[in-house]
Amino acid sequence: LEACKTDVWTLDKVKQTLPKRDKHSHKGSHGRGLVIGGHKEMPGAVRLTATAALRSGVGLLTVGSTSDVLPIVASAVTEATYMDLTDPKLDFESRIQPFDAIAIGMGMGRSDLSRQWLDAVIESDKPIIIDADGLYFLKSHLAKLAERKAPTILTPHPGEMAMLIDQTIQYVKNNPFEVAKDFAKNYQVYLVLKGAYTIVTCPNGEQTINTTGNPGLAKGGSGDCLAGIILAQIMQKGSLKSSLANACYIHGLAADLAIEDHHSTTDLLATDLINFLPDAFRKCL
Ligand code: AMP
Ligand code: MG
Repeated sequence: LEACKTDVWTLDKVKQTLPKRDKHSHKGSHGRGLVIGGHKEMPGAVRLTATAALRSGVGLLTVGSTSDVLPIVASAVTEATYMDLTDPKLDFESRIQPFDAIAIGMGMGRSDLSRQWLDAVIESDKPIIIDADGLYFLKSHLAKLAERKAPTILTPHPGEMAMLIDQTIQYVKNNPFEVAKDFAKNYQVYLVLKGAYTIVTCPNGEQTINTTGNPGLAKGGSGDCLAGIILAQIMQKGSLKSSLANACYIHGLAADLAIEDHHSTTDLLATDLINFLPDAFRKCL
């Protein structure tokens, strides 16, 4: 019943709201994004986030990670620049100042150092996207979120959502609209509760549901791509609600187009999804 009252995000809405690039735009018009994450046992996540952000319209992109992860990502992602977060001389707070938005947590691991990055990012006045290991550390900071001066976007899957509210995954799956609305209003965050039907909830409780995507996305790396698409889209013109809903729509659409005549839900990889972002954007712009 609740689902019927919820606004379904359609291709028409995407076409009406997806920002087009201005004839005279330059890289500065499209946002300077920072992706923070990665550790030596998970170097691929930030590579996916960075590539997805670059394929989703970001003006300039920097990846901040550990010294062992950076060369791996840098050899694969030509268009980004890099920041060594393990450099003892790094002044993290001042280095994050130039960015327009930050996505943190993908493959980040749970070291003391990565907890400090999250603390500083939450203290900043930047729009932030918190995913994966960032959500794990967030649990002890929830009370600070409503005080933030800039938007906070959280992108949990049902397991991460359950952890944040001390409930079972089954409870989250049985009450996704209610759980998301209570959480978003309580903590004044934009919540992207991921699943076969991802629900975007605004701090005022407004909700939209996404219907694109397929079980080919039920694989490691899919969520990392979504974080990158969101990072790029929130720095473009348009409301945060439509940016988030469009990002979810395009993420799912890329996966749907990929299985239309090339891949199957069995073989689809997150990298393939990124390779179909051009088709998805061309259909929506
Ligand atoms: P994560 O668990 O963080 O890797 O995120 C998984 C991503 O894939 C989210 O964007 C989900 O919405 C999407 N996803 C996972 N399973 C499915 C499914 N069965 N159908 C559609 N989308 C899915
Ligand atoms: Mg994830």
